[in-house]
Amino acid sequence: MVELIAGVDHVPEVLVVEHDGVRCMDQRGDGACVALDALTRLCTIYEDRPRTCREFNRGESLCRKILAEPDRRHLIPRVVSDR
Ligand code: SF4
Repeated sequence: MVELIAGVDHVPEVLVVEHDGVRCMDQRGDGACVALDALTRLCTIYEDRPRTCREFNRGESLCRKILAEPDRRHLIPRVVSDR
């Protein structure tokens, strides 16, 4: 789950959920971020994506761990260079 940083992250409110006072990107039932297009696997708010997303590097240990789990691969967005 992607926590939003107050004063830094500006995403559409319809995509936001609050858990115990912490604002986060909402998730679909399968655990994917609501901003992730299920068909294209592209971020629909890419230009305005949260800082956490901007700093997430594909290929790092967390990314590899998720990719190693076939049921969770759909959670990893494609990047613009994949287009
Ligand atoms: S980069 Fe991924 S997690 Fe971040 S807002 Fe876009 S779809 Fe959501």
